[in-house]
Amino acid sequence: MEQPSAQLILKGINASPGICIGKAYLVDKEGVDIVSRYSIDKNKLSKEIKRFQAAVKKARDEMRSVIDKSPEEMPYAHVLEIHLALLEDKMLYGKTIEIIESERVNAEWALKKVVSSLKAVFLGMADAYLKERASDIVHVSDSIMRNLVGIKSEKIADINKRVILVARDLSPADTSQINLEKIMGFITDRGGKASHTGIVAQALEIPAVVGLKYATARIKSDNLIIVDGNAGQVIVNPSEKSLVEYQERMINYAQYRAVITRESHLRAETTDGVQIEVMANIELPEEIVSVKNYGGDGIGLYRTEFQYMNRAIFPNEEELFEKYQDVVEVMAPKPVTIRTLDINGDKAVGYQNGQDEANPALGLRSIRYCLRKPDVFITQLRAILRAAAFGNVRILFPMIAAYFEICEARKLLDQAAESLEKEGLPYNRDIEIGIMIEVPSAVVLADILADKVDFFSIGTNDLIQYALAIDRLNPHVAHLYQPLDPAVVRMVKQVADVAKDKGIEVFMCGEMAAVAHHIPLLLGLGLDELSMNPQSIPQVKQVIRSLSLGDAQTFVQAVLKKKTARGVFGLVKETYGDILDNRY
Ligand code: PEP
Ligand code: MG
Repeated sequence: MEQPSAQLILKGINASPGICIGKAYLVDKEGVDIVSRYSIDKNKLSKEIKRFQAAVKKARDEMRSVIDKSPEEMPYAHVLEIHLALLEDKMLYGKTIEIIESERVNAEWALKKVVSSLKAVFLGMADAYLKERASDIVHVSDSIMRNLVGIKSEKIADINKRVILVARDLSPADTSQINLEKIMGFITDRGGKASHTGIVAQALEIPAVVGLKYATARIKSDNLIIVDGNAGQVIVNPSEKSLVEYQERMINYAQYRAVITRESHLRAETTDGVQIEVMANIELPEEIVSVKNYGGDGIGLYRTEFQYMNRAIFPNEEELFEKYQDVVEVMAPKPVTIRTLDINGDKAVGYQNGQDEANPALGLRSIRYCLRKPDVFITQLRAILRAAAFGNVRILFPMIAAYFEICEARKLLDQAAESLEKEGLPYNRDIEIGIMIEVPSAVVLADILADKVDFFSIGTNDLIQYALAIDRLNPHVAHLYQPLDPAVVRMVKQVADVAKDKGIEVFMCGEMAAVAHHIPLLLGLGLDELSMNPQSIPQVKQVIRSLSLGDAQTFVQAVLKKKTARGVFGLVKETYGDILDNRY
């Protein structure tokens, strides 16, 4: 009798939550790795260029047809549009033609050369989001390359049985063909947390684990596998015990999500009757669909810098205004907190001719950059004030580190309003003004800064980096990046206490606010509003509903006596383990 294969556990990155159990289906999405180089006679160059252009056109038609067949209003449509634009981007399209001509080589070789250098540029970027864009370039060039060498790609839309996809990599175009009645989830060797493929999986709400490295080498089609998108692991040939355990977990998780999503449209009110606003952080206007689906009480952070990236020049006022107006109108009457441009540091914008900086995180970034470039800043401020005429807008200035910065920012806001007034354009200057508290000096100066604003929003992603001297992108010190570090807890307390004292509101929009285990502490410290990625909203609302504010305040007194992050976490588990750990 054939021995059953032994159970194998593969660890990867949790790209989309959920659990599924089913048969593996290996898709051959290898791309074209081996490309030969050959010379092209001078008189045949234009024919070679036409061959390249025809391959691009075919790739474009294929992608267009995928977009046309996608359901409308899906949040991932913009990802495919980005790929469509990349197909004809000067860096890729123009440069390949240039190399065919200048080096007199075949199109495949020229394309491969361009893609490797572009990939290196993106991978060298500090920002995790931009780093991941290297995979977009590869996906787009693969679609051209397949047409050049005449490989027919396997259509995921044609898969006709209920399976879990296993691939080296999947492009967003592949992923968006997924038929939810057939594909239960997917796993890939490549990919990271911020990859677009993961974003699409989240939008489709199917479990996905990426970055597994050797999944395609170790799994065969028809192997039974369990995908645990919560923990970021895959179990191949599960034992009877694992199967039983995961079947139960799968049912519990599905029930848990169904309940919290259904309830996410209700208010998040503590057991002693205090309402906390649970808001969403967004980067692109398309994300409002998920904010609505997940019951966000508004937009707590609209990161506007993404409209300045992936392009050749600064956007103009009209372009910005239209995007802001869309978001503001759809969300009205709920608030939309538009944060002014937070570029440089980890989000460099290529065309702004900045100097190379030895320490970009401490450099001419964010508000410092905007105050140095009043034209760029006023263009954005005018767009925000104009959009404010269409709904409920708050403005948020990032990275304020000194009193004069908020004074100057306000002055420029007044100037923007005056210019709109003169031109007779509709606008609204009667909006709340806030600052991000994300630099230690702002914590220390909170009482002075409070006199100039209507609210504080604590940005823990940066505050932790600056307060604990830990580069938020450096994997070597990632273990020290602890939101529950007593230094961070005390800083948040200081800011919240000043806000209460001065009668202004205090919010948090850093990722610290998205984690269930942090919620008792944040409530107890007195935060009025928490803002996070839209998918985390139902869970955070559910946790808030199970807590009492009075108890959380008592809990904070005990937390303040702890000397280490581990000590704080231990106390969270001891006090709230029952509520936080047994949700599914
Ligand atoms: C933060 O720093 O906490 C924040 C929300 O802003 P960003 O992550 O965009 O720097
Ligand atoms: Mg920040």
